[in-house]
Amino acid sequence: MNQKIEKNEEYRLQITGMTSEGNGVGKIDGYTVFVPNTAPGDYGRVRLVKKNKHYGYGKLMELIQPSPDRVEPDCPYFGVCGGCTYRHISYEAELRLKEDLVRDAFSRLGGIFTEVSPIVGSKRTEGYRNKAQYPVGRNKEGEIVAGFYAKRSHRIIPSAECALQPAVFGEIQAAVLDFMREKQIPPYDETTGEGLIRHLYLRRGEVTGEIMLCLVAASLEIPHIKEFVCQMTERFPAIQSIVLNENSSRDNVILGKYCRTIWGRDTIRDILCGVEVELSPLSFYQVNHPQAEVLYRKAMEYAGLTGTEILLDLYCGAGTIGLSGADRVRQLIGVEVIPEAIENAKRNAERNGTKNARFLCADAGEAAALLAEEGLLPDVIILDPPRKGVDQQVIDAVEKMSPECLVMVSCNPATAARDCALLREKGYEIRAITPVDLFPRTGHVETVVLLSKGEIDSQKVRVEFSLEDIDMSEFKKGATYSEIKAYVLEKFGLKVSSLYISQVKRKCGLEVGQNYNLPKSENQRVPQCPLEKEKAIMDALRHFKVTL
Ligand code: SAH
Repeated sequence: MNQKIEKNEEYRLQITGMTSEGNGVGKIDGYTVFVPNTAPGDYGRVRLVKKNKHYGYGKLMELIQPSPDRVEPDCPYFGVCGGCTYRHISYEAELRLKEDLVRDAFSRLGGIFTEVSPIVGSKRTEGYRNKAQYPVGRNKEGEIVAGFYAKRSHRIIPSAECALQPAVFGEIQAAVLDFMREKQIPPYDETTGEGLIRHLYLRRGEVTGEIMLCLVAASLEIPHIKEFVCQMTERFPAIQSIVLNENSSRDNVILGKYCRTIWGRDTIRDILCGVEVELSPLSFYQVNHPQAEVLYRKAMEYAGLTGTEILLDLYCGAGTIGLSGADRVRQLIGVEVIPEAIENAKRNAERNGTKNARFLCADAGEAAALLAEEGLLPDVIILDPPRKGVDQQVIDAVEKMSPECLVMVSCNPATAARDCALLREKGYEIRAITPVDLFPRTGHVETVVLLSKGEIDSQKVRVEFSLEDIDMSEFKKGATYSEIKAYVLEKFGLKVSSLYISQVKRKCGLEVGQNYNLPKSENQRVPQCPLEKEKAIMDALRHFKVTL
């Protein structure tokens, strides 16, 4: 630490980088400072408002020389709303930063220096989302509102419009709110646990235009529901399905596990990579349809299928990736933990006349271990895990099944890099890395990675595999914060706080307890977990096989 640097003093700072959370980064005499609402290339006067040992947080007092990448943010909520990260710089600059972020994650966290191919940008940067989840609550005046959460907070910024979403979503949101106000249907109150409506969740099939309207509510007994259905379906003929989702928990998870269709179909349809898909409210579906096609085509290109392969699609969701290549494989096996998604995958296979596909509802680690045990020898495995990455059990099973080719699709460069490094230890080389931007203006980016065996094991004869008669028993796993702390202390000699554990869990896409999820104020200047401790906590999460 440089002793000369003092809190509340002002410094001139050149911003040279940016985090995926939207903070510009610069150095004062070797000391790292994060500054919200700045961009690489900015030069300005910054007040150091928070000083930790290795880094601090600054407030931009005067922008002396703006970055050439700066553009005027075209959304009144930018900087307040937690959705967009990059609305103050051009899309070209955003793509450069995302590509660097992926390169940095692979080299820094994974020690992987394979060349990263140019990022594939999205043609559409506005209105591309096919899904919206509006929190519903009351404002200070007690009026019913819906909109977006402010950055790292549960304060609702009322808004029906979002540049990332189609206009019809805003119109439906306004109509739902009007109905709630007229009939005095209470929104849920997070602090008291009283009230009913928590979220309005909308989803639209890009090609079909079909819309699913889902009300997430603390109870399924919602007054005037028949009238609600009549009004909504009359006004919005694209609505094909109205669903209630029950969520009575006191945590941050948006959707509960139980859905009841109250009008229309249980699913909506779409077409992706030429495959007709049906989607339940709880099934995962990429939010940017044209870019999802780009992503899946890249994954299929990496898989290099010729028609003779056994393809294992782990974390398959509604089966979308695997089914897009089912006509180029001998056998497709998909594994996914959400039962509704597996139901969709089976129906999707049927609907598309795919006869060589089997789908298994199970934890990917459990299933992979069992399939390896039963002697499955796939030629290609696709790994498309959630943000927390793949479990050690999956890595071990992959080693046992020893496919020639692995394709990893990941929405989290940090865990992708970590997992690729582990797979490299099992004899896989990282051959190609392509970032694909599915989420323009936000801090997120997808990455596709091709891994293959250094030496091809030709001894293994890959035969068709029967999934019948295998007993797949699921079990839940987890670890308390104390267990994680004890493990990290014992194995790495490091003391970690609950805050750090929650930061790493959040980074990995894991749900965290309400107390740890958010800073007490909306001020985001909370200490950030140092890299060394982050790696140790990730190791602990893997050790305890913490799953969603
Ligand atoms: N490949 C799919 C889904 C990818 S998202 C697609 O592209 O549409 C990741 C998926 O992993 C989600 O469907 C999620 O439900 C599933 N998932 C999360 N944890 C899992 C686990 N432990 N085992 C199996 N599937 C899991």
